[in-house]
Amino acid sequence: MELFTTDLAMKLRNARRARKLSQAALAREAGCTQSAISMMELGRADAISRETLMKLAKILEVDIDLPPITDSPATSLSPVKRLCCPQGECPSNTPFAVAGTVSFWPKHQPAGHNGDFCAYCGEVLLHACPECQAPLNEGGHCARCGSSYVNQPLLTDTTPDAWAASRRQQLAEWRALL
Ligand SMILES: [Zn+2]
Ligand SMILES: [Zn+2]
Repeated sequence: MELFTTDLAMKLRNARRARKLSQAALAREAGCTQSAISMMELGRADAISRETLMKLAKILEVDIDLPPITDSPATSLSPVKRLCCPQGECPSNTPFAVAGTVSFWPKHQPAGHNGDFCAYCGEVLLHACPECQAPLNEGGHCARCGSSYVNQPLLTDTTPDAWAASRRQQLAEWRALL
């Protein structure tokens, strides 16, 4: 019997003892002979039928590892995970200036693609908010704590508006080349 292992036999025996059931009492409940129980507990797979084994497991509340059920719908329903690149200078992030700072609209990348590295710049992708670990939402900021997903660029000799505008211009040209 493929379900039967000596490990399972031991579990069943221990469960029976924990319940202070005698082999005879368990046999009566399961509708088999006491000697069948005795042999089963010694690891004799041929001592009992599959039905009896299932009955014993149920009575003793022992889990039997049943063969896995294939194509379960639960796994295919898992939501698509969002990942984005945390680099401000990465072409996957479109910058725009808001209230004197640079904000980004990240292009989300599929999980597992390229081994979780940015397809554009090779940076390790962000799986969750860097501050509070909340799942990423659609925009560039965490809905829970307000943190920006994308690192601020270094602004020297330029304003956020000018930087974002020239960066968008570069991105437009770069995309036109693809
Ligand atoms: Zn990137
Ligand atoms: Zn957050």
